[in-house]
Amino acid sequence: MRRPLIIGNWKMKLGLVESLSLARELKRQLAGVYAGPEVMVCPSMPFVPQVMEVLQGSVVGVGCQDLAFQEPGAFTGGVSAEQLKELQVRCCILGHSERREFFHETDEVVAAKLRATFRVGLQPVVCFGESEEIRLQGRTESFVSGQIHAVLEGLHAPQAAAVVLAYEPIWAIGTGNSAQPEDAEAVHRLVRGILKERFGDQVSQGVRILYGGSVTADNIAQYMQCESIDGALVGGASLKAETFRRIIEYQ
Ligand code: PEP
Repeated sequence: MRRPLIIGNWKMKLGLVESLSLARELKRQLAGVYAGPEVMVCPSMPFVPQVMEVLQGSVVGVGCQDLAFQEPGAFTGGVSAEQLKELQVRCCILGHSERREFFHETDEVVAAKLRATFRVGLQPVVCFGESEEIRLQGRTESFVSGQIHAVLEGLHAPQAAAVVLAYEPIWAIGTGNSAQPEDAEAVHRLVRGILKERFGDQVSQGVRILYGGSVTADNIAQYMQCESIDGALVGGASLKAETFRRIIEYQ
């Protein structure tokens, strides 16, 4: 009942020419009858409109990687939820561990960004996950619970129901050291339990929770077999059309 969702996060890795050629190739490879998962890619912000133009008429939607939580105003360099809504992006990644680490985003900032998406009805994709240090200390459950509670604070059930969550253990991102599917599944179940406790069974069963961290064409199927894993947030392996297509066609 939860439609699988695969999102490619292009980070700050591609220039304009590379972004457009990847989009064109993806469109070509996915042309024709399609009954697979929902698919989105998140290019760098300045290239979003041109990538959207290329992907028009394809099954691939376009999202972005971040936003500023403030309402439109004097915030030099910021891009508001309202501006993204005007661009008609399909989703916005929030709280990626790279934003948390390099831009010092706290759970409170991520929660404010989440509220900003609700102002305009933009699909949020909220990332969470523990560092290697926390995992080795055996504190994954308590850490992840803390992140989820903090981000969901003050939400009503219909808002919670609209969120996509992405479990991204930091030690698995870009390392080739992907989480064991059963370990990821255990975290996803924990999060579903929190959703149930706070918002009831219907919300808990409806929210899509993605796994992210060194997902490849070779390991995606193992994650998708897990009951509580509803898709993937893919970094490195989304930068080649052929590999990303194979991830999308995991079945
Ligand atoms: C990511 O950046 O969200 C990510 C999961 O990267 P990778 O797939 O390269 O580990």
